[in-house]
Amino acid sequence: MAPELTLRLIDATCAAIDANADLLTRLDSAIGDGDHGHNMRRGFQAIAAQRDEMVGLPLGAALQKAGMALVMKVGGASGPLYGSLLISMAKAAGETPKDANGVAAIWAEGIEAVKRRGKSQVGEKTMLDVLVPAQEALCAAAADGVAPGQIAARVRKAAADGLEATRPMKATKGRASYLGERSVGHLDPGAQSSALLIGAVCDVLESEA
Ligand code: ADP
Ligand code: MG
Repeated sequence: MAPELTLRLIDATCAAIDANADLLTRLDSAIGDGDHGHNMRRGFQAIAAQRDEMVGLPLGAALQKAGMALVMKVGGASGPLYGSLLISMAKAAGETPKDANGVAAIWAEGIEAVKRRGKSQVGEKTMLDVLVPAQEALCAAAADGVAPGQIAARVRKAAADGLEATRPMKATKGRASYLGERSVGHLDPGAQSSALLIGAVCDVLESEA
């Protein structure tokens, strides 16, 4: 992958998590144990620390390294889940994708891995409630022949809508599920971190298009 693009993606995602770690912690304090911001910041700092080694790697190898860093450093339920997402995307990546369809296919493999590991699906108030609609928006935009410069806006919007949709949901997976009905009325912290990461990637890709 182009070294400059790798660096921009790493820097944008790490910055988004760092700038919003307090928000993630606040959300997780409401319906979990208040560590999601700290967990994610630690994981993305580990990715940032490997920035120079990741430059110039093919997409698959870069995703594999980032995924391993998250598995090792994030801790909490979200570490293995985000790790599975990236490591499965790494396996699917092969050659750098040529277009939005290629990116969507790789992303779909990552989502399947999250579902398998989390034994979870859309509608359970988790990161999947952002990841799945955002990936579907990418597929739809590619199928509709949306111009590359406008695809990011669609994906970002689907992620934002997916995040907001977690508010009225009752959590049935993860720590928030212990609260039952009391989880209703709050955004899911993992859905928020997914929306932040997707937003950061969209910002970079939009400026490349
Ligand atoms: P922990 O819950 O162990 O403290 P984190 O606070 O870092 O871990 O992450 C919590 C987030 O992980 C949740 O907000 C949710 O989005 C996600 N999550 C938890 N369990 C699952 C699951 N089974 N499937 C998908 N996502 C999950
Ligand atoms: Mg937590």
